Amino acid sequence: MKQIFSLSAFIFLLFAVTTIAQPVKKHGKLSVKGTQLVDKHKDITVLNGVSYGWHNFWPRFYNKESVKWLATDWKCSAVRAAMGIDPKSGYMEKPDWSKEKMEAVIQGAIESNIYVLIDWHSHTLKPDAAKVFFAEMAQKYGKNPHVIYELYNEPVKDTWQQVKDYSIELIKTIRAIDPDNIILVGSPHWDQDIHLVADDPILGFSNIMYTCHFYAGTHGKFLRDRCDYAIKKGIPVFISESAGMEASGNGPINYTEWQNWIDWCSANNVSLISWSVSDKNETCSMLKTTASSEGNWKEEDLKESGIKTRELLRKQAEKEK
Ligand code: MG
Repeated sequence: MKQIFSLSAFIFLLFAVTTIAQPVKKHGKLSVKGTQLVDKHKDITVLNGVSYGWHNFWPRFYNKESVKWLATDWKCSAVRAAMGIDPKSGYMEKPDWSKEKMEAVIQGAIESNIYVLIDWHSHTLKPDAAKVFFAEMAQKYGKNPHVIYELYNEPVKDTWQQVKDYSIELIKTIRAIDPDNIILVGSPHWDQDIHLVADDPILGFSNIMYTCHFYAGTHGKFLRDRCDYAIKKGIPVFISESAGMEASGNGPINYTEWQNWIDWCSANNVSLISWSVSDKNETCSMLKTTASSEGNWKEEDLKESGIKTRELLRKQAEKEK
């Protein structure tokens, strides 16, 4: 009896392991072809997932176990680790601790075989510190197909020329070490002025994409029009942060406009990352304070945006099969 039990347990385990999607195993090394992200077979690939909140405010979620949960239960093909730079306990104040938190998520993504965005989560330019950090990340992780570098979360006051000059410097730093992993470049004005990028893109490097961020309660058709304009001009667009409520991260969810964005992303094969894995009392935080730091979240641990995002991700993963 015992033997029969262990045999069936083994078969069940084997079944469970083989049916868990492992996006990096399937798609491997990513690259950019025209305006599209493509996989190792040069087939168009779309990443869907969530962003962790600022590591300095919600360090408790930065661990391998939560990544595993997001990969298996939420069916994320990518997660974004958002390293706060300027605030208290950010990278400028605590570089080693910050890297430790980031690397827990990066290692978790590698183990769960999903992609991971290493996000320099800043609103101001810090080129010297950024160069040191990304050189180290490229050195450590540049050979892993899982890793995507995001150079500058959301410029606020910088012009495109300033962001462009900064990005070129950073791209050169990374490319001297890692010739191929995807690099995401920000666009001015909280990642909304992607039309300015389209008129004057960075030339001479491969596997570069540009980020646009939307909060559906604030950003509607005008921002999708800008993205359409950029794509028409040959710009690869990546939505590395987004959500359904107002740009403040608060206020009611605008389900109609959020769905419009989701439909737009599917129609254009644009990757979509939702903000955020955190438990603050605000609409965009997906979790309640009851949620454990290591995943295993029940529906009652999720807030409205968490329930909707999980549902969306599971639906998208189903289409991927
Ligand atoms: Mg590489």
